[in-house]
Amino acid sequence: MSRVWIVSACLLGQRCRYDGEAAKDSARARLALLDDETIVSVCPEVEGGLPSPRPAAECEGGDGHAVLEGRAKVRTLEGLDVTGAFVKGAARASEIARLHNATHACLKARSPSCGVGATWVDRKVRDGDGVAAARLRRDGLIVVDDEHLESFLAHEAGR
Ligand code: SF4
Repeated sequence: MSRVWIVSACLLGQRCRYDGEAAKDSARARLALLDDETIVSVCPEVEGGLPSPRPAAECEGGDGHAVLEGRAKVRTLEGLDVTGAFVKGAARASEIARLHNATHACLKARSPSCGVGATWVDRKVRDGDGVAAARLRRDGLIVVDDEHLESFLAHEAGR
């Protein structure tokens, strides 16, 4: 039986990025590795009520876990506080994952919502999860970014 994966909508061709585009073809092509799995498309930032295009944003003062704990914020590069929309979008992603019994998530690398293990914090890519990735990880999903999907699946197959 196939497993259920939450997948960043921009990796599936949805034009939901901050710049109004989908993820690049090279990133989208990686999703062919999940052809035998059940895919549920989610864009946490759009789920949080943000439009596309929208101003680019990043975490400030800590990663997505710190944002969820109220110890950090998410701001646009112009300084507008969009923490509430990011936290709401992460909660919506969590709810969608639960409704679909998702066990895994493949998310777009380095995004302030979707980044897994590395995300934009204080104008640099630093260790940590984006806000939605942090939420899904805390829910118990196995989260991996698109750039590590192939090695993750290879590792799993070799077990
Ligand atoms: Fe893609 Fe995630 Fe950004 Fe939405 S929030 S555009 S799914 S990286």
